[in-house]
Amino acid sequence: MKPFKSLVQAALFVTLAGCSSNPMTGRSQLTLVPEKSVIAQSVSAYKAELAPHAKKGKLNDDERVVRRVRAITDRLVAQAVRYRPDSASWAWEVNVIDDPKTLNAFCMPGGKMAIYTGLIDKLKATDDEIAQVMGHEIGHALANHGAEKMSVGMMSDILVSAIGGRYQQASQMAALVAWQLPNSRGAETEADRIGIELAARAGYDPDAAPRLWQKMKEASGEKGRFDLLSTHPASDTRMEELAALAPHMRPLYAEAAKNPATLPTRLAANVRDVTPGDGPASHAVAPAALRPLALVNPAYERFRGGEAVLECENCALSFSNRAGKLKTLDASGDWESLAREVLDVGYSQDIAWYYLGRAAEGQGLRDAARRYYQHAANLARHKETHCKGLFTDLCNGIRLPEQAETALARLGK
Ligand SMILES: [Zn+2]
Repeated sequence: MKPFKSLVQAALFVTLAGCSSNPMTGRSQLTLVPEKSVIAQSVSAYKAELAPHAKKGKLNDDERVVRRVRAITDRLVAQAVRYRPDSASWAWEVNVIDDPKTLNAFCMPGGKMAIYTGLIDKLKATDDEIAQVMGHEIGHALANHGAEKMSVGMMSDILVSAIGGRYQQASQMAALVAWQLPNSRGAETEADRIGIELAARAGYDPDAAPRLWQKMKEASGEKGRFDLLSTHPASDTRMEELAALAPHMRPLYAEAAKNPATLPTRLAANVRDVTPGDGPASHAVAPAALRPLALVNPAYERFRGGEAVLECENCALSFSNRAGKLKTLDASGDWESLAREVLDVGYSQDIAWYYLGRAAEGQGLRDAARRYYQHAANLARHKETHCKGLFTDLCNGIRLPEQAETALARLGK
C-alpha cells in the first residue's frame, strides 16, 4: 500500500500548497509555480520564439502593420492594467511575425505578445477583430493560465512518481490531463470573457468577437500545425457564448466611443510601463479611489435590476464557509463585493436574500432592496429560517424575518 500512501501525500501537498484564487475571475486555480517565475521563464521563451524570425528578416518588416498592431494592443494593455494594476510593472511588448502561412497570435505570461501576419491576411481581419484575438490572448496572461498549465504538468509528474510504474495507466491518464489543459474550456471561456471586455473598453466592437470566430471556422479548412485553431476550436458554443456576452459589452464600447481622445493610440516605445488608471475613467476617479475593475458579471447586472437569481438549495456549506467574509463586507459597507459573493454562492435561502437586500440598499437601489428583503422575510416567515442551522449559525447573529421586516419598514412602500 506504500504507493497509495505517497499518492495521498502528493495529493495533500498539491491541495495545501497550490490553491489560489484566479486574479481575474476569483475561480480557484492550481498554482504550484509562482507567477513571477513563470514570467521570468516566458521572457527567455519569447526571445527564443522571435530569434529565428528576426534572423530571416521576418520580424516587424512592415512598418504599417506594426504600427497598426501596436496601436491596438496599446489600447488593450491600457485597459488590462485597470483590472490588474500589478500588471503595470510587466514589460509589455508586441511584435509582428511576417509569416503569411501561419494563423496565430499569443500573449505570454508577463505580457510578451506576438501576432503572425497570416492571422491578419488570411482572415482579412479588421481592427476590431484583431483586438478580439489579442484581447483573448491578454486574457490568458491576466488570468495566470500559464502558471496553472505548468502546475498541472508538475502535479502529474508528482503523481506519476508517487504512483510508480505499476500504475502505468493511471500515470498516463494524469499526463493526458496535463496535456489537455491548454485547451480546457474553463481557461478558454475565461480568456474569451476577459478579451471581449478589454476590447470593448478599449473602443472595439464586441460584435466582432463572434464574427472573428466565424471567420476562424471558415479558415479552419486550411489550418496548419502551429495555428491558433489547433488549440482554439472555433466551436458553435464559443460563438454563442460570445454573442451572448456582446450585449453586456455594448455600454462599455459606447462609453469608449464617446471619449476616443482618452484612449491611447500610439506606443511611445514598444517596451514600456503602463500607468494603472489609463483610459476613459482615469480623469473621473481620484487615484486614491482607484480600485481594480471587476469583470462585467451578468448575474451582478441582474442583481442591480432587482432580478437576482439564487437557485442553489444545497449550498449551505459553501455559504457558511463565506459567512465570516460576508459579515466583514457588510460591516465595511463594501456593497458591490457583498453582492458578488452572495451571487457567486447562489444559496437560495433567506439569509442570502437578506444580504442582497443590504447590498442593494447600500447602493441606493431601493426597489431592488425592497424585493430582496421581502423575499427574505417571506422565506423566513412561511418556511423556516436557515439562520439557526443544526450545527451552525449561518447568519452571524442576524435575526430573520425581524431584521428584513425592519428594513422594509425603513424603506417604506
Ligand atoms: Zn485561448
